[in-house]
Amino acid sequence: QPLLRGPDVTRQGWEQILLDTPCNRTARKNLRRYASTAHMAGTAEDLEMAEFTRDKIRSYGLDAVIKPMDALLQFPVSRSLDLLDAAGRVKFKAPLIEDEISEDPTSGTQWRNMSFLAYAASGLATSQVVYANYGRPEDFDVLEQQGINVTGRIVLARYGECFRGLKVMNSQDRGAAAVLIYSDPADDGYTVGKTYPDGPWRPATSVQRGSVQFNSLCAGDPRRAASKLSPEEICGHAEDDLIPSIPAIPLSYHDALPILKDLGGPTAPASFRGTLPVTYRLGPSEGKVRLFVNSTKVVSPIWNVITTIPGSLSAADDQPVVVGNHRDAWVFGAADPNAGSSVMLEVAKSLGALLKAGWRPQRTIILASWSGEEYGLLGSTGWAESEADGVLKRASVYINTDVGVSGTMFKAAASPSVGRSLVRALAKVNDPVTGEPMDKVWTGKLGTLGSGSDYTVFLDHLGIASCDLSFAQNITGFGAYPYGVYHSIYDSYTWIEKEADPLFLYHVTLAKIINLLVFDFADSDQIPINLADTGKALQSYVAAVRDSHHHAAVDFSPLMVAANAYLNAAVAFHGSDASARSSRNDILGTAERSFLDKQGLPRRKWFKHILQAPGFYLGYAAKVFPGIDDALENNDLESARDLIRKAAALIQDAAAKISGALASQSMLETLQ
Ligand code: GLU
Ligand code: ZN
Ligand code: ZN
Repeated sequence: QPLLRGPDVTRQGWEQILLDTPCNRTARKNLRRYASTAHMAGTAEDLEMAEFTRDKIRSYGLDAVIKPMDALLQFPVSRSLDLLDAAGRVKFKAPLIEDEISEDPTSGTQWRNMSFLAYAASGLATSQVVYANYGRPEDFDVLEQQGINVTGRIVLARYGECFRGLKVMNSQDRGAAAVLIYSDPADDGYTVGKTYPDGPWRPATSVQRGSVQFNSLCAGDPRRAASKLSPEEICGHAEDDLIPSIPAIPLSYHDALPILKDLGGPTAPASFRGTLPVTYRLGPSEGKVRLFVNSTKVVSPIWNVITTIPGSLSAADDQPVVVGNHRDAWVFGAADPNAGSSVMLEVAKSLGALLKAGWRPQRTIILASWSGEEYGLLGSTGWAESEADGVLKRASVYINTDVGVSGTMFKAAASPSVGRSLVRALAKVNDPVTGEPMDKVWTGKLGTLGSGSDYTVFLDHLGIASCDLSFAQNITGFGAYPYGVYHSIYDSYTWIEKEADPLFLYHVTLAKIINLLVFDFADSDQIPINLADTGKALQSYVAAVRDSHHHAAVDFSPLMVAANAYLNAAVAFHGSDASARSSRNDILGTAERSFLDKQGLPRRKWFKHILQAPGFYLGYAAKVFPGIDDALENNDLESARDLIRKAAALIQDAAAKISGALASQSMLETLQ
């Protein structure tokens, strides 16, 4: 055992407090409270949960305040879905209701017959149905090749593969009259595993609600209700281009099955087939479907809860650390998002315990409980845009947890530069069941951040290195969903207790991991960002975008040269132990900013990060070098070449900045 120096002894003591404080008893109690009532953004219950969060955090000795903001929301009023026969008589009326389950005491909620897709238009559509698989462009291509027209018809699409709003966007672009989105058991139901209440996966009447904002174009309030700027100025899109102009509703497979059975036309190709007992056909349907949707749009306050722990560094040297989780839920939100909220309270409690023990972080720590995430990341985006030149100007990292615990398999996606700090934290935390260190248990696969949760504005709009952490169901191969009752009334306290984390030990484990990560970022002399890891990622991103398109006429070498230059500069930077700490931290804490292009990505200028973005037609999953990738996808080689030049220049500048800092440091040293 090497001897520890004084400061290390103290640091180890602080870390011990961070490992000892999180408690499964309070994690359970707080989750139970969050999931005791439905709390959609902007409702009285959302405010009540904001107050609960604030008061809990205050009871830990921290300074928490509720920050309201106005945002465009939508609430369901009524909807109906009838399948008509050729004579126009109703042959099936969809119940549109989730079954009450006796094992789950909250499942009798009134919300079980209020499922809706937020921001879909209100209206009536009566038309034949066509089946568009996951509703991706390539799925519509198949329909077109088969001569099946979508125009004026109702698209039936299944959940999975891409963000639901983009299924509606793609349908609307092709002239569809309305959209029905259903959960096929192939994707998150009985084909994946046992269904609730016998297992974690989606039962027959369960419905995935959700927003159908076009999330790959922009995040945040589509009307920017609380902003002085217009959506046009912020996103390059008029407000009405960001949400659907056609009606849409979500369906259970119970309600979708009769519609699938009514489809005529050619048998669907294998890739279109789910696992319901029906021959999947492309359509059109024999009869027509009559869909009626009535929802009301309202501009309403939503409530972020912001906790600030001031750092000891001067304002000029401070580089704040931000931790966030959303609080608003479609219904009870036990897993999504309140498992994360319960973890956040344990983090707040732990930091409170450190402060009481006499600790003060070097850098300011901000804990945020967001609202309006479910509608389109409204709370985080609104707050972060308003703080872009304030507390976020020099923020060094954003740590997100959304669906904190829906299983026992650790998952992480992050800016590559954050990976090392994460692994260091994992090495100090044990899996609560096997007792093995988490860095050994983890797959080690650090994902690339796309979108679909609150890190988006921080990383993609503001260039703040970010990460997103969770424990999910231990399955591979069903990539789209981390668990099976997502956005339904069954995402309940009982589900968590039965199917995810009966002893709340993984809640505690996640709190410990976040605690150590926050401590590392807020209180290490040198910010634990590793630029060499960014450099290595750059090389692999260049290879990935180059190799996924085979355009011999496009020269990627300037980009590879730039990536190499960046890696070299980064290795030199980390290899020198120059003494000018604040200038080193300047470089480290703002390194991700170098990858922002002020003009933004083509077609979606709010997304400014050139290294990754949610895929234009994916919404959740990331594309690397998204601008270049899009241009190649569209066979626009001229734009691809321009974007390669531009990206190479940006990366060369970033490399020069790193080398420059090193040069000026050694200058200082020779002078001293
Ligand atoms: N997390 C929410 C969802 O998946 C919102 C995502 C978004 O708007 O990007 O529905
Ligand atoms: Zn969520
Ligand atoms: Zn959600």
